[in-house]
Amino acid sequence: MKRTTIEKLCCPFDRSDLELTQITEDLNGKIEEGWLHCSQCKRIYPIVKGIPIMNPDEFREPSLEQPLLDRWQKQLKGRQVKAFRLLDSGQEEDT
Ligand SMILES: [Zn+2]
Repeated sequence: MKRTTIEKLCCPFDRSDLELTQITEDLNGKIEEGWLHCSQCKRIYPIVKGIPIMNPDEFREPSLEQPLLDRWQKQLKGRQVKAFRLLDSGQEEDT
């Protein structure tokens, strides 16, 4: 998907702007793999084969997304993903 198209997307839950992290692009400069991150609800939306996965939580399968997160460890810089939310590093979970 084109970067300009992806940059127009907003979070389906709260309509907030999404921050794009690009990992790979294809020969035409289109985004191939990466993720979108909502600054409001902290949800992370993977981009796989150029398609952003922006389903509601109940239609997402953590076990399918885990291999991606494992592969993106370097780019995630140690940040953890819990319940589809990308936590800031050092941020503790509410108990
Ligand atoms: Zn959001």
